[in-house]
Amino acid sequence: MEEEVRVIAIDGPAGSGKSTVARQLAERLGLEYLDTGAMYRSVAFAAMAREVDLDDSAGIVEVARSSDIRIDDAVVTVDGVDVTTQIRGPEVTRSVSTVAAISGVREVMRVRQRAWVMERGGGVLEGRDIGTVVFPDANLKVYLNASAEVRAERRAGEVSALDYETVAADLAARDAADSTRQHDPLIQAPDAIHIDTTLLSIDQVVDELIARLG
Ligand code: C5P
Repeated sequence: MEEEVRVIAIDGPAGSGKSTVARQLAERLGLEYLDTGAMYRSVAFAAMAREVDLDDSAGIVEVARSSDIRIDDAVVTVDGVDVTTQIRGPEVTRSVSTVAAISGVREVMRVRQRAWVMERGGGVLEGRDIGTVVFPDANLKVYLNASAEVRAERRAGEVSALDYETVAADLAARDAADSTRQHDPLIQAPDAIHIDTTLLSIDQVVDELIARLG
């Protein structure tokens, strides 16, 4: 009998706790974890490195197609170069939503995300459109959120070079762009479990999700 493909989809805005929850959940379930945001960030980085203008949608789709993006747990490489640190920098963070709004880029990423799961027979994926578009039949769909203040505080704690106000403003702009774009916007799937992580610890969220899986 063929083994069931087990997919867990975790979506939500920046700073909602997706990455930490997805990583720990994957570990507890013995599954691999994919940070799909790192893929979009890698395309934004590669476009900047190749000096392709953000207005040049066709050029950016070509960058997405021709870039060899590898994510091995926390280490991200683009065409063999380690970009782990650069993709979290302010330049990429400010341009990534523009790159992610291009439907051709999303198509390339979607195909790769599905192939990633098929190669492993399942996995925990986190992003913005995993439960709505990439894996609408996922075994478990989760939508994480938290208050805007707490999300900005979490991100400001990670990015020491920027002050809280700047991080909060960047985050609000990115959320607005991601939620209102034409293709695959960030929305909660009707059948997703909604968890507000504002006052919860990571362990509490992970325990709740394991309980839901039965
Ligand atoms: O998760 P992270 O904040 O690193 O994602 C960076 C950006 O990548 C998001 O703001 C969004 O524009 C894009 N993204 C997306 N779809 C996903 C994951 C990320 O559009 N599945």
